[in-house]
Amino acid sequence: MNVNDKRVLVVGLGKSGVASALFLKARGARVTVSDAKPQDQLKDEIPVLLDHGIVVETGGHGERTFGGQDLIVVSPGVPTDAPPLVQARALGENVIGEIELAAQFFPGCVVAITGSNGKTTTTTLAGEIVAAGGYRTAVGGNIGTPAISLVEGATAETIAVLEVSSFQLETIQTFRPQIAVVLNVTPDHLDRHRTFTAYTDAKARIFENQRAEDYAVLNADDLTCVELAARTRAQVFWFSRTREVKQGAFVHDGRIFFRDHSGQKEIMLVSEIPLKGGHNVENVLAAVCVGALLRCEPDRIRKAVHGFKAVEHRLEYVTTIRGVEYYNDSKATNVDATIKALESFPANIHLILGGKDKGSDYSVLNDLLRERVKRVYAIGAAAEKIESQIKGSAEIDHAEILETATKHAAATAKPGDIVLLAPACASFDQFRNYEHRGKVFKEVVHALEEQANQKS
Ligand code: ADP
Repeated sequence: MNVNDKRVLVVGLGKSGVASALFLKARGARVTVSDAKPQDQLKDEIPVLLDHGIVVETGGHGERTFGGQDLIVVSPGVPTDAPPLVQARALGENVIGEIELAAQFFPGCVVAITGSNGKTTTTTLAGEIVAAGGYRTAVGGNIGTPAISLVEGATAETIAVLEVSSFQLETIQTFRPQIAVVLNVTPDHLDRHRTFTAYTDAKARIFENQRAEDYAVLNADDLTCVELAARTRAQVFWFSRTREVKQGAFVHDGRIFFRDHSGQKEIMLVSEIPLKGGHNVENVLAAVCVGALLRCEPDRIRKAVHGFKAVEHRLEYVTTIRGVEYYNDSKATNVDATIKALESFPANIHLILGGKDKGSDYSVLNDLLRERVKRVYAIGAAAEKIESQIKGSAEIDHAEILETATKHAAATAKPGDIVLLAPACASFDQFRNYEHRGKVFKEVVHALEEQANQKS
């Protein structure tokens, strides 16, 4: 793609929007950026854009801004059915997302990882495996570095390991991962995708441009993933923690194996995985598949997994105070992730639930609540909905805010208990984002720890 002297509009000034604008400007495009947020909320972004001679529009999208552009690059945070975009498309303008822009420029091979849960963990781990396998590796996408920023410095030998979200996949055109991984598809973001079918369709677009020589890596234990196998032209490799698969990675007798047409290799013991929970075994199996498909040595794969630490806010161990363990799973922003967190501990859990509701059904938690949870501490805007849907399955403390919930849990928990923040909701009602929520939780826990140390 040659953007020199082309008129390009970047919509949405998130991290990837800013990176796209600067990238396009550096390649000679005439760039305008437009964001619905008012100027005072974009104080960090605006100066650097103006310094580079980029035209900045804030506080809404002017009607004329969208007209006559050669290319419109839209950020994943902007709904694809936003009226100015619908109109631009109707007028025949070329509207793409940042992942597509990166795909047009990236010279190397792409591994793309999507799913409702586990993307960041698996992408980070797969990146470490691929690097340990001796490849030049660039990790990013929906996590850390925007995909467009990986282009600079990449060569035809570089392997990009990208986390891609359903929102990003909605705006691709030619994006073609040589290895496409779908970890699981469970209801999430239904506030934006509206139906589960629409959400699944967005995820399935990861296969859209794959060819017969490419690979699709799918979870054999996830029904929707099994159905998705029919929607790729690529060779399907499976992963499963419950049964052996014909091609792919699986667990047998406490060991992880990878199997392809050339035979079966043992990779490692399941007990060597340094992460909690069965869901993380799935993430490891998916990452092992990626490494093995790229012909990384089993021993190097094993070492990379062995040295891996939980990514912050993903079932992250915080500390133990008077025999009570604290875990921060602030990234559990949907019900399925909370189920996985609960399944990681056999009993005696004090669970902090709530935040901004995404149209979820919390009653699916009830069996696990009865089985494993001593008390639920409900917080945030969703508290009342949650309380009505889980009534009778657990004792409920209407704590309202995270600090109170953590303190109440600490006061109630007995040695051997677990205090778990796995809220099943978005954070935006009371926090800037899930990282902020996780940090506040850890601060409160560490303050409680200090108090406990002073007393003893
Ligand atoms: P994502 O990037 O898809 O949001 P993360 O790795 O950040 O995935 O994890 C998000 C949440 O989902 C965390 O609460 C984590 O503990 C949980 N989780 C991680 N892997 C899985 C999985 N394979 N299945 C279900 N939940 C998972």
